[in-house]
Amino acid sequence: MVAAAMAAGCVIGVDLGGTKLLAGAVDERLQVHHRAYRLARTDDTTAVLETILDAVLEAREAVGGDVRAVGLGIPCLIAPETGVAMRCNHLPLVDVPVRDIVADRLGLPVAVDNDANAAMLAEWRHGAARGASDAVLLTLGTGIGGGLVVGGRLVRGARGGAAELGHMVIAAGGLPCPGNCEGRGCLEAYVSGMALGREGLRVAREAPDSALGRALAAGREITGALVTELTHDGDTVAGEVMGHMGERLGIGITTLVNVFDPEVVVVGGGVIAAGELLLGPAREVVARHALRPARDHVRIVPARFGAESGMLGAAVLALELVG
Ligand code: ADP
Ligand code: MG
Ligand code: ZN
Repeated sequence: MVAAAMAAGCVIGVDLGGTKLLAGAVDERLQVHHRAYRLARTDDTTAVLETILDAVLEAREAVGGDVRAVGLGIPCLIAPETGVAMRCNHLPLVDVPVRDIVADRLGLPVAVDNDANAAMLAEWRHGAARGASDAVLLTLGTGIGGGLVVGGRLVRGARGGAAELGHMVIAAGGLPCPGNCEGRGCLEAYVSGMALGREGLRVAREAPDSALGRALAAGREITGALVTELTHDGDTVAGEVMGHMGERLGIGITTLVNVFDPEVVVVGGGVIAAGELLLGPAREVVARHALRPARDHVRIVPARFGAESGMLGAAVLALELVG
């Protein structure tokens, strides 16, 4: 009874990524009453929409059916007026009126924004960037999502396409960017959960005597999470992969610090589970290479809400919608 009463007036925040979906039933104090997880990876537009609906229904049921609105953070270019997903780097959502489809099916008000903008909103209002007038956010997941606050405003650009910070080029003529980006040498090609798994696999083949190599021989899938785990356990080969990725992240952050002179750079997404293993090397690069005075003042910190900033930010969007 008490839990149901507390859950009354919840909204549902949905964070959709290239790998996973998280839907949370969230109250006005940003307490999470239920979490619904789904895998997001698919080539089928209808399947993506059904996954969203299915997770929202689970979360709604878990809090007794009484929810006020839904917020969606999706890794796409969003038309803010209409809630149409126009382009998407890692999911099959092209010119899909996501807001109206979900609102019609659920009979609830729905707000939609880019997933990283949603994460920025949560961290800016309530988390690691609280009170900042200038802040940068990077979510490291399947790829990289970016959020940008400049002079106290969320930066969206002329057509909503701004703050794609993962597509900052860090290596001229470098690796082709994964997903639908046609660039080369983008930060996202070097720093992400996917890149961590890819590099982990490469060195596992080169160093069969390392813990990574033995994991590969034992038939384990070499994922970002495994590289983190083995780095924690002291495998130097895994640690080198992680350290290189942290340095690449630092190169990207150096440019962001030089361009925006932010008070804080917030790093979130699934990969931030690696914590200081990643942020330590990144900070060292920024401390050596960024310009003064920006580098002396900037804080480079993990997201307060960890991998849940996007979901909570989507919930904030929904709360704002119903006032
Ligand atoms: P998305 O939002 O793109 O679906 P997430 O933010 O959920 O992605 O992050 C998923 C990625 O994070 C995967 O590529 C996975 O390998 C990586 N990941 C998950 N856990 C860890 C971990 N403990 N350390 C490093 N990477 C991780
Ligand atoms: Mg995500
Ligand atoms: Zn790119």
